[in-house]
Amino acid sequence: MSNSELTTTEVLIGLGSNLNNPRQQVLNAIQAIEAIDGVNFLSRSSLYESSPQGPQDQENFFNAVVLVSTNMQAEVLLNRLQEIENEFGRVKTRHWGERIIDLDILFYGRYKIHSDLPDLNIPHLQALTRDFVIIPTLEIAPEWTLPNGSFLKDYQEACLNHQLTKISR
Ligand code: AMP
Repeated sequence: MSNSELTTTEVLIGLGSNLNNPRQQVLNAIQAIEAIDGVNFLSRSSLYESSPQGPQDQENFFNAVVLVSTNMQAEVLLNRLQEIENEFGRVKTRHWGERIIDLDILFYGRYKIHSDLPDLNIPHLQALTRDFVIIPTLEIAPEWTLPNGSFLKDYQEACLNHQLTKISR
């Protein structure tokens, strides 16, 4: 199902950073998302700190999730988020490596989207297994429902442990 009719959709965006004052990078990126034309900012989670997934010889990550509503198509929103990543000076390093900012479209309403060009999978492929996604998301959207009709909260117990710590509001 695609959102080609351009209806307003609630979207959850995940943020992560572990370079160059990562706490501030996440806060700045939240502001950048708020400023996107066509995005209506609804709420954000607390900030969290988590241990890295993948290579362990890197700093902890700071994470947050924001809830917005928009009638932008997911592909267009992805493009805007990638522009923000580039503006923040993100450089591609190793897989699951260190990064100034990572912006992921976690959920786009209850739509399921799989596209090759651009490369886009929604729900985000790792969204249901990451505590640093599920826990901040449940803080701001406790009743979030997945494309298959199940509740996100039902995935909380099974998700991987990244020693997630809530830092602040
Ligand atoms: P990463 O290094 O984790 O930021 O991955 C970036 C790549 O993931 C880009 O090529 C994106 O097009 C692709 N991608 C696939 N699905 C998503 C999604 N839901 N949100 C953000 N990027 C995505």
